[in-house]
Amino acid sequence: MRLYYILKNLFSFSIFILIVNSISKIILTNSLQTKTKLKTFLEKINSENYLKIKKFKLEKKKSNLNKFSRYKYKSKILSHSYVDDWTNYQAFSNLLIFQCKYKNDFALTWDDGPHDNVTNSILDILKIKNVTSTFFFLAERLENETQAIAARRVYQEGHQIGSHSYNHPNLTITVSENKNCTELKHQIFDSDRIFRDKIGVSPKFFRPPFGDITQEIAITLKNWGYYIVLWNLDTKDWYWEGLEKLNIVKSYNDELKNPDPDYKMKDSYISLQHEHSMSIEGTIERYSYIIDLIREKGFNLVSMAECVGRPDDKYFEEIDYENKQFFFDD
Ligand SMILES: [Zn+2]
Repeated sequence: MRLYYILKNLFSFSIFILIVNSISKIILTNSLQTKTKLKTFLEKINSENYLKIKKFKLEKKKSNLNKFSRYKYKSKILSHSYVDDWTNYQAFSNLLIFQCKYKNDFALTWDDGPHDNVTNSILDILKIKNVTSTFFFLAERLENETQAIAARRVYQEGHQIGSHSYNHPNLTITVSENKNCTELKHQIFDSDRIFRDKIGVSPKFFRPPFGDITQEIAITLKNWGYYIVLWNLDTKDWYWEGLEKLNIVKSYNDELKNPDPDYKMKDSYISLQHEHSMSIEGTIERYSYIIDLIREKGFNLVSMAECVGRPDDKYFEEIDYENKQFFFDD
């Protein structure tokens, strides 16, 4: 009798495990398919240059983007992927910063750090070349003391520090899913507190993760006093990963040395690179070449605050978190 019960329970348990296993496989396969589709789409978009992106049909984007697209098209998205032509950039120039105010200014910007050794090797070359630049840090990374030490060195050596959110969510999705803005407050205000605590300053310059932001968030952040910074030279270091060593230099050469005849060189630049895509090996050599090339072409290397013509407006004095207004449609 006892054996019968044991066998019966064992049998029921095996059936239960089988069912759980099948359900989780279905869920996993679906989410993997969505991720793969999104990845393929983003790769396609980013492998084309901006002028070619114009040719993508809106409907095609809609069908490819799955869940991502529902939020994108519900709110007015202002994204580097969708701003396909430099003339279109002008339409957003009152909200977002894509280039410097003055001709011949060139702002080098570094995202997603601090990354201790990488950050330190960037600082080494910037010091050798006497260059000031801007680092858009993730506040979450400052909670690690080794990274915080690197971040403080950035500040002490005269570079500008900007915020790149707490932990890099796509704000266009986050806010659509959470209209009461708790997540937006977390990404902005909690980051401010961490920056102030770990480095001693609260950055006024903000770069949205992935460069994606909605008009509502942009208006809200601008009203709170932030400068929302994008870029007009994407080095695509994040895209090329293992080949970054060659392609980061190629990105600068293509833009400054051998520009496409149809592709007019801009008169000022904000260039984008990522600390996580960099290897320490060769950083000094590559950026030594890049910095020389930028100067050779007649550009002055500046911080983001200098780039917008407000050199002393880098950080907030203090922030009144309670009395912040949100500009969102229901
Ligand atoms: Zn980023």
